[in-house]
Amino acid sequence: MCGIVGYVGRSEAGPILLDGLRRLEYRGYDSAGVAIMDGDRVETRKCAGRIAELGKLMTEKPPVGTYGISHTRWATHGKPTDQNAHPHFDGSGKLALVHNGVIENYQALKEDLLREGEHIFASETDTEVLAHLIGSLYDASAPANGYVPPQNEKSRLVAAVRAALQQVIGTYGIALVHRDIPDFIVGARRGSPLVLGVGKEENFLASDVSAIVAYTRDAVYLNDFDVVAVERDKFEISSVAGEGGNYEVSKVEFTDEDIKKGDYPHYMLKEIFEQAGSVRDAMRGRLSTDECTAKLGGLDMTAAQLRDVGRIVLTGCGTALHAAMIGEYILEQLAGIPTEVEFASEFRHRNTPMTRDTLVFAISQSGETADTLGALRESRRKGYRTLGICNNVASTIARESDGGVYMHAGPEIGVAATKSFTSQVTILLLIGLLLGRMRHLSTSEGSHIIGALEALPDQIEQTLKLSDEIRGIARKYAASPGMLFFGRQFNFPIGLEAALKVKEITYLFSEGHPSAELKHGIIALVRPELPSVFITPDDAVFSKNLNNMEQVKARKGPIIAVTSGACGDRLRGIANDVITIPSAPAFVTPILSVIPLQLLAYHLAVELGRDVDKPRNLAKSVTVE
Ligand code: GLU
Repeated sequence: MCGIVGYVGRSEAGPILLDGLRRLEYRGYDSAGVAIMDGDRVETRKCAGRIAELGKLMTEKPPVGTYGISHTRWATHGKPTDQNAHPHFDGSGKLALVHNGVIENYQALKEDLLREGEHIFASETDTEVLAHLIGSLYDASAPANGYVPPQNEKSRLVAAVRAALQQVIGTYGIALVHRDIPDFIVGARRGSPLVLGVGKEENFLASDVSAIVAYTRDAVYLNDFDVVAVERDKFEISSVAGEGGNYEVSKVEFTDEDIKKGDYPHYMLKEIFEQAGSVRDAMRGRLSTDECTAKLGGLDMTAAQLRDVGRIVLTGCGTALHAAMIGEYILEQLAGIPTEVEFASEFRHRNTPMTRDTLVFAISQSGETADTLGALRESRRKGYRTLGICNNVASTIARESDGGVYMHAGPEIGVAATKSFTSQVTILLLIGLLLGRMRHLSTSEGSHIIGALEALPDQIEQTLKLSDEIRGIARKYAASPGMLFFGRQFNFPIGLEAALKVKEITYLFSEGHPSAELKHGIIALVRPELPSVFITPDDAVFSKNLNNMEQVKARKGPIIAVTSGACGDRLRGIANDVITIPSAPAFVTPILSVIPLQLLAYHLAVELGRDVDKPRNLAKSVTVE
């Protein structure tokens, strides 16, 4: 959530900081700000609203300087106002701080500060308390009347940061500058991501590498409790406790080109259209046609350990949770292993009875989702083997799990997740195939699954051709008060996912349900203005869905059907609109059936004039609980 960018080098900091914030825009925010050292003054510009507004402020009165920090805020403490926007200052007005996360004990810290001395707080944020705390610890450590060589000032500031963070309960990614210490930025993290970008005579800090990949592809992914002192030509990493930090400089997997929109009007549409490639990349090198199974070395488990798995828990939030729900059907059908899906936020606080042979998967595109990370840590604490399914290779979940499978989907910028969903389902299919082939699945069944998987990229391409037809349907229903989605079996979670997409980017009311639940209450909502979307491919439950559609039609509810094969003909006269996707076995169909619904949500949002890539109130990577 929110974003941090820091720069120290020889170029003008303003444009770099602003450009970095724009690249982090997709993460979601409600206000933005910068602090740049201009001569002997810390110049700040900040405001509620879009980065474009901040850009205007910076053009009207450009802050000049070669180092500084910037921030996009996603308010947790205090309304999104100019006043609450970061950076925040300490009591001396010399130290400027940006922060991502939540200081849970800020009230107690604030009371301590007020007890000790005069502190005037200009905002309602928890962040400002941290700025005051660091500032007062720094000032208190100053030698009386003595000259302090600059190097000592630097270590004194780092020591004050450490001492303050030792008192903090909560999460933080921070960056700060001090007026008296030129060309110097301190960063630290716990629970909120922070990356150091290593350049030539310039270094960067950022919440994620997309902010800085245009300048450098050498990055150090900081760990929780790392404190980094950054200068133009060097950096030093230590821990909050004061120990030397271990780090590794890695090459960023993607380039600046990969995060450009190209000819697409929105990232979301670009990412929907990338799915043939991203699904192919999720499978690349992982299918063994000889042995009719999948190869997933990253799980880091022996065949014997995999055979001993007696139960699986899939955990995640939002879209990842919907992928997990399909995973449950997949793993039970292909591998016959009892599988449960748990909301990460519930799982971590609940006393879930677990058996020793339980394998836990934490699913998160960003690998930084706070609730999923909490679930992962809790299950590892209890001694369960916990694996990650992530897109972001250097993410915290990827690093803290016992092993896992990367999606290799490339950067996903659109807030509404699309390609990460189909990649997650693809990976769950690979896991199902692998575990199934170690159990009862025959070679011919394995080869049937591989055939279905290999056919997918072409079928996705074919499905994407429906975009124009779906735009027409979206126009037709754009004035509706909302939408209901229904499906059975593998396609029930697709109904949930479609409803989520519609909510996220159109702000229309929408809900997904198992088709049969219709008559248990939802049917009360059915009326001529409210369309019902049935995801009903040519499968074993098609005729059951048909019954449910009749029930809606009898009450004059309009019906949009997503179907496959010859079933389209059976829907004429029942559904008002029929979208036909390619036929595929039931277990891979969700990867195809979700695509027209992603497109439906997208075209509806465009039709309604919504800000598709930056929907209100939402953040891409939810790093708060
Ligand atoms: N808790 C801080 C605030 O409300 C930081 C929020 C964020 O992560 O942007 O200002």
